Formats: sequence, C-alpha cells, structure tokens
Amino acid sequence: TAAPFITLHDGNKIPQLGLGVWQVSEAQAGPALAAAFEAGYRSIDTAAAYNNEESIGKAVKASGLDRDKLFITTKLWNDAHGYDATLKAFDASLKKLHLDYVDLYLIHWPVPKQKLFVESWRAFAKLKEEGRVKSIGVSNFNIPHLQTLIGETGIAPVVNQIELHPQMQQQELGSFHKEHKIATESWSPLGQGTILQDTTIGAIAKKHHKTPAQVIIRWHLDNGLIVIPKSVTPSRIKENFAVFDFRLDNDDLGQIGRLDKKHRIGPDPETFG
Ligand code: NAD
Repeated sequence: TAAPFITLHDGNKIPQLGLGVWQVSEAQAGPALAAAFEAGYRSIDTAAAYNNEESIGKAVKASGLDRDKLFITTKLWNDAHGYDATLKAFDASLKKLHLDYVDLYLIHWPVPKQKLFVESWRAFAKLKEEGRVKSIGVSNFNIPHLQTLIGETGIAPVVNQIELHPQMQQQELGSFHKEHKIATESWSPLGQGTILQDTTIGAIAKKHHKTPAQVIIRWHLDNGLIVIPKSVTPSRIKENFAVFDFRLDNDDLGQIGRLDKKHRIGPDPETFG
C-alpha cells in the first residue's frame, strides 16, 4: 500500500508518511533507504545538518525509482541564513544529493536573534521560481515568526515541520496553520521513542492488534498530520509503514488527546541557534 497524499497550498502533493533520517549516518542511510523503499516509503526527510545528503542521493539513485515518484525534503542550516548564503547552501545540498531539484526545502530553525530568516525566505522564493525547489516551507516556526514571514513577503510556507507527538500536541499552532492553509508536519512523532511505553497507548495497541509505534503513527495520520518516524532497523521501518489497514476510533482519539503535557523534548525555537 502506498501512503496517501496531502495537497499543499501550492498545489503539490506530499506523501503523508515518510522516513526521517536525523542521526542516520552516511553508512546507515543506504540500507535504511533500501528497506524503506521496499516497504513502500517514497518520502525522505533529511537536512544539511544531518550530514547524510550524499548517502541519501546515492540510495535514491540505487533505488531505480522514477524521480517523480519520490519526495525528497532537505533543510537550510542555521549558519547559512541570509539571501546569498541561502542560495549557496542550497547549491551545496543539491550537489550532495545528486538531484536536479528537491521537492521541499525548509528553513530548519527561525533563529530569531539573527533576524535573517526573511532574507532566506526571499531566496527560497527565487529557488521555487527557478524550479530547483518544488515547494518551500519552514520548520520550528512559532506563530510570531510565521506572522513576520507572511507579513513581510506575502508568501506563506506550505509546511511547518514542528515537534509534535501525543505529549506535545501543538493545538494553538495547529489552528494558526489551518487558518493559513499551512500543512503541519510532525517531527519526533514517536517522542524519540519515549512514549512507546505509555500504558494508554499500549492498551489501544492491544485492542487493534497493532504495536504502540503503529498506534502513534496512526494518530498523526488520523489528525491530518504529515509524519516522518525515524528508524534504521528494517523490521521497524516496515512496521511503521504497516498502518493503512486500521483507524483509531473516537474513543482512542479522545484518550490520546488527553496525553498532551505540552512537553517539549527538543529545543525551544525562540532561543535555539
Ligand atoms: P522519532 O520520534 O521518529 O523516534 C525515533 C526513535 O524511536 C528511533 O530511534 C527508535 O529508537 C524508536 N523507534 C522507531 N520506530 C520504532 C518501532 N517501530 N518500535 C520501537 N521503537 C521504534 O524521532 P526523531 O528521529 O527525532 O524524529 C523523526 C524525524 O523527524 C527525524 O529523523 C528528522 O527527520 C525529523 N526531525 C526534525 C527536526 C527539526 O528540527 N525539523 C528535529 C528532530 C527530528
């Protein structure tokens, strides 16, 4: 089964489930992507900062899959904000990936104290015009950062990739996204593995004859989120994609809804970078 697509506000489509490759080494990336493509994944989420773009590019080529069947995301790192620096960093990423274009390019963090993300965003708009990036988005932007971006350029990101999992549900940001037709993409969707032991999740998993990871991934899908769980273990990569044969019911969704602690695992976007 293929993952369903979410249509972005620029008309492009992104698979709702993809593979995250943070903390995946150059050596691990090839086998992990081969297992993912075999399982049906077509979307890969990397970043310049993950230091594995070379291997991702090689694995994409080795897959033999048509380029237009794949969805490759990479991200601009914090040390390359600004108009010219962004264009240069993008060239470097594209070269490492051995691609002619990326499907989605994200500003990885706003780094508000640098006050340069708007300049980077203008460079993103140019890259989109040139067709070297199909869609442009951001990551870790809070409401005020999004307001600045939209206010100064008139261009809303198609996606905001943010920390989101049952213990950090991001309701307020999610409502803002809806108003502006920004799709929400969940990073650390499994809470980096920390919520797999949760007893509520465990009971729901048992009820559906599924694993805790599958229940959490299904929760993201049932909430209309784009989700990019990470694993380098072939059996888990496969397990995390075997989520299209069940749905959570309202009772399950209500119970998981109550697990929100507004608890971040990752850094605070206001101060990070
Ligand atoms: P995650 O929530 O996807 O958890 C991954 C960990 O959960 C694995 O390392 C493994 O320990 C465990 N796991 C995965 N599948 C499992 C299974 N089926 N059974 C048991 N354990 C399992 O964590 P993540 O890697 O932090 O997030 C996913 C992706 O999100 C990253 O790889 C990256 O692409 C992206 N991300 C982006 C940002 C950002 O700033 N934009 C930050 C963090 C992560």
